[in-house]
Amino acid sequence: MNNKDLQTRRNKAIPRGVATVTDIFADHAENAEMWDVEGRRYIDFAGGIAVLNTGHRHPVVMERVQQQLQRFTHTAYQVVPYEPYVELAERLNELAPGPTPKKTLFLSTGAEAVENAVKIARAHTGRPAVIAFTGAFHGRTLLTMGLTGKVAPYKAGFGPFPADIFHIPFPIPALGVSEDDSLKALNSLFKVDVEPDQVAAIIIEPVQGEGGFNIASPRFLQTLRALCDDHGILLIVDEIQCGFARTGKTFAIEHAGIEPDLMTVAKSLAGGFPLSGVIGKAGIMDAPVPGGLGGTYGGNPLSCAAALGVLDVIETENLNAKAQALGETVVNRLNRLAARNDVPAIGDIRNLGGMIAFDLITDTDEPDARMAKALCAAAVDNGLILLSCGIYGNTIRILVPLTASTEIIAEGLDLLETSLVQCATIEAAA
Ligand code: PMP
Repeated sequence: MNNKDLQTRRNKAIPRGVATVTDIFADHAENAEMWDVEGRRYIDFAGGIAVLNTGHRHPVVMERVQQQLQRFTHTAYQVVPYEPYVELAERLNELAPGPTPKKTLFLSTGAEAVENAVKIARAHTGRPAVIAFTGAFHGRTLLTMGLTGKVAPYKAGFGPFPADIFHIPFPIPALGVSEDDSLKALNSLFKVDVEPDQVAAIIIEPVQGEGGFNIASPRFLQTLRALCDDHGILLIVDEIQCGFARTGKTFAIEHAGIEPDLMTVAKSLAGGFPLSGVIGKAGIMDAPVPGGLGGTYGGNPLSCAAALGVLDVIETENLNAKAQALGETVVNRLNRLAARNDVPAIGDIRNLGGMIAFDLITDTDEPDARMAKALCAAAVDNGLILLSCGIYGNTIRILVPLTASTEIIAEGLDLLETSLVQCATIEAAA
């Protein structure tokens, strides 16, 4: 079996819409390393798009799943419930920030969690509208695609979109959008498009993922919290990409010290198994009537078992502290790289703990998406799996497992450096 033959088969069998970042095919993986079907080794700085904060196949997670495999793999929670679902909900309710008692619902994908958070918010408030941010990514289903704040490739050709969804600018000072600009846009929205008493919820990623690792400041999130309280609007915090120790806290919203009404979680929650959830204030979570929430696979027992292992690992291996240290190591190295003149121009470098990104820019300070693409391709050729993101596609994000050893992280950063230097040479020759 080789990558080229598999690509040929894949191109014939699978629609081009499911595009892939790399042309290699996975064979096996362990912590922050992966091997392709030709036996080549890679360092994984993508973590399956923010799913592997605890790395590939963490032994504690594997052990939990093995145990569960011996007992049952599916009953449908709504038919015959099981303890791992209840135990996981109890643990997340304890971990969620704020003093209000919490309840948790489990589903399978991030988009499904967001859909359900909106359903719960509408059922609780009796209001239709939802406000989201530009550059936001909340999923690819109809409702979440509507909430997503980026047209190409997520929304192009897929309309019409659901009604009563509005977008305001996410504050990105580096791109000339201040927090005051965002708040002014919100006030204007209330005057121009929708009365506040028709708004069920405002949904925000504390650190935008696909949008470019843009960090909402504690002050901005606190202002949103107060504004929501003034108008009886629920604050939904989407922790799907930034949660589970990535930013140095179990939930990124903890940096702002506020209590969200609802939180959506997925990805690194279950270390590679499909699981998502909505964690929220108990009184709000109980708004939908019995039978109003659920799904055949929601809270699959293998995934719940995996997630219980993930929560253990976050605690026992101090992943919050590791994320903080990772952020410092990588940002130091990126700052040194940015000062060199034999690499493509690096613009803003930013991180919240281990959620780290940098922008590639042109000579005239414009976003350089072409260079970001070239860099990801060069990285894979050199044995490093790397992802871009950002509204302009020129941001490189680093999502290496928080369990990666310092040696592996250093090796990955060396490969990043080699790839950057190669890209500058190609550019100079072009
Ligand atoms: N919200 C955020 C913040 C995400 O990053 C993603 C996935 N990138 C989603 C929602 C959707 O998750 P899924 O792909 O599992 O539906």
